[in-house]
Amino acid sequence: MRHTRAHTGNRRAHHALKAANLSKCSHCGAAHRPHHMCLECGYYNGRQVMDLGAEKAKRDARIKTKEEKIKNELGIVDTPAEQPKETKEVK
Ligand SMILES: [Zn+2]
Repeated sequence: MRHTRAHTGNRRAHHALKAANLSKCSHCGAAHRPHHMCLECGYYNGRQVMDLGAEKAKRDARIKTKEEKIKNELGIVDTPAEQPKETKEVK
């Protein structure tokens, strides 16, 4: 049902976003979300719960293998596909 602009405005009056409430890491002093691990050092509640350096190394290795796989696949697919395009441009 259609309603007035005032009705729409009243509903949207509650749609504003609030700034995140951050707390300070006890290990490195960086701001982090309360009840969440610190994303800078991987500490939570005074102890290390995640080795972020090892996680980043694992992630970089995974991305690199994926990039190489895509490059190999494109290298096989691209060479026959590019040749007919060049002949069309000449005409
Ligand atoms: Zn920290």
